[in-house]
Amino acid sequence: MDGDCLFCQIIAGERAADIVYEDEVLLAFKDINPHAPVHLLIVPRKHIRSVNEITPEDGPIVAAMIMRARTLAQELHVDRSGYKLQINVERGAGQVIFHLHMHLVGGWRRQ
Ligand code: 5GP
Ligand code: ZN
Repeated sequence: MDGDCLFCQIIAGERAADIVYEDEVLLAFKDINPHAPVHLLIVPRKHIRSVNEITPEDGPIVAAMIMRARTLAQELHVDRSGYKLQINVERGAGQVIFHLHMHLVGGWRRQ
């Protein structure tokens, strides 16, 4: 837990979020500024700054994030229409919250 980290505060229940799923490894909650009809953030409970700081021991956490994204996409009915899983790594790529997270975005109406 990093007291200055916004996502650690959500995980600790100190800051409100629209949580759609949680277990012992991770949480999924709605992005406060959605870029698509479906825009979730999948966030491990462990404070990891970015992909650059993932260690081999974190492998199960990363696997759980992807598997949960897949299940949530099915439950939200965007698995067939399509969705993106995006992880921004460091400032140049647009990372603004330095607690590892994956964006699940989808639900566009494309012709
Ligand atoms: P990044 O750019 O770091 O990959 O993504 C951070 C995301 O967190 C952004 O899409 C932003 O809208 C979202 N965000 C920032 N602050 C909050 C917050 O307090 N609550 C929620 N639910 N999302 C947030
Ligand atoms: Zn954190």
